[in-house]
Amino acid sequence: MRLYRYVGPAELMGGPAGAAMVSPAAFERWIARADASEPFTYVVDRHGYLLLAPRQCEHVACAGGSRVRGAGEVTFARDADGWFVRTVSNQSTGYCPDVTSWPAVAAAFERAALRHPGRFSDELTFRRCPGCTELNVVKDGDFACTYCGTALPARWNVDRG
Ligand SMILES: [Zn+2]
Repeated sequence: MRLYRYVGPAELMGGPAGAAMVSPAAFERWIARADASEPFTYVVDRHGYLLLAPRQCEHVACAGGSRVRGAGEVTFARDADGWFVRTVSNQSTGYCPDVTSWPAVAAAFERAALRHPGRFSDELTFRRCPGCTELNVVKDGDFACTYCGTALPARWNVDRG
């Protein structure tokens, strides 16, 4: 399983780490004190646990500066059967995780007994330009660098740079 290292600026690395959802009970306690109408920052740590923090928190702070199996934003909702994941993305410009991080993210939700949509509800395709080394988010399937026009590779490559 891939571990993603932080690729963002060093000045964003401070702040409190996220809360680890080590069990369904841990999630219940945490969400009871949170504003569940807002999206949250999440990472999946190297051990496979879901770490949650308020949306304004940087992913790297949420992760305590460590490598992660996945990262993005998540919203939760509740029905008669309890809490579930309403939306989840891989939107993290600090880690730029590939869409293939989904199984690790799904497994972390399942450890907290959270039902989920079965895939990212919002998927970002991150690539690093082999020409100018800038980070890109591929839009509308156009694999060309926004900054210099160089063709972007078919496979995730953000780690090389
Ligand atoms: Zn470029």
